[in-house]
Amino acid sequence: MGILEKMRLDGKVAFVTGGARGIGKSIATALAESGSHVAIVDMDIAEAQKTATEIASLGVKTIAIKTDVTNEEDVNKMMDTILATFGKLDIACCNAGICINEAADTMTYAQFKKVIDVNLNGVFLTSQAAAKVMIKQGKGSIINTASMSGHIVNVPQPQCAYNASKAAVIMLTKSMAVEFAKTGVRVNSISPGYIGTDLVLEAENLKALIPQWNALSPIGRLGRPDELQAIAVYLAGDTSDFTTGSDFLIDGGFSSF
Ligand code: NAD
Repeated sequence: MGILEKMRLDGKVAFVTGGARGIGKSIATALAESGSHVAIVDMDIAEAQKTATEIASLGVKTIAIKTDVTNEEDVNKMMDTILATFGKLDIACCNAGICINEAADTMTYAQFKKVIDVNLNGVFLTSQAAAKVMIKQGKGSIINTASMSGHIVNVPQPQCAYNASKAAVIMLTKSMAVEFAKTGVRVNSISPGYIGTDLVLEAENLKALIPQWNALSPIGRLGRPDELQAIAVYLAGDTSDFTTGSDFLIDGGFSSF
């Protein structure tokens, strides 16, 4: 069997949080193209349903589940729904995230806590729920979306809570990877650079900064969501069985200097 065949995910079951749009949708599409059934998990159920229908046309089973990743009861219900629908979970993409751009000296405590709650606590809750199932199965792959902001301080926009949350996701990933290493459950993170999604393009203040970011970037442009697909498929499947506790920076060289 050739390497591309070995990388296929036929018959596997995945969930993707924040899967309705942007990077999550792109990863969910790639998993489905590789043969995996996919649960699209998002707060925005209308968009999640649209994405699930679109992805089902690739010939796999999909389901949309309305979940706030910061709500423990929602996350438990999400896991119950996935197990009732598919009977197992092989791949967990804990990807939902938000950004609030406020200066560290004026940001309110409520704003700070909101970012930490979605980006860090949400990844903890969803990856823990996945791990409980996967440890019983003796196998599974958890893929958390961190950011290059977990490695560097982005400029010029202020985003201390976001940067702190993403650095924490990288360390949470490594901690879980070490704890679960002998169980067959692997935990890795992907750290994208600036990617042209609605998170960036819908926020006028961020959109205006794109030329400045491009000037700082060795590759000179934003990334596209589809440029994160191959790493997600690799991490999801069995050819990455020796890969755990790793963070994959995909940023066009942005954080290399
Ligand atoms: P996006 O805003 O386009 O999509 C995020 C999705 O997450 C939305 O569908 C939203 O409804 C959902 N979501 C938000 N809060 C949620 C919650 N509490 N519970 C459930 N769903 C929730 O964002 P994106 O650009 O696709 O970003 C996805 C991930 O990638 C985030 O973790 C983000 O921090 C990270 N990231 C993005 C970039 C970038 O430049 N776009 C760069 C590095 C990392």
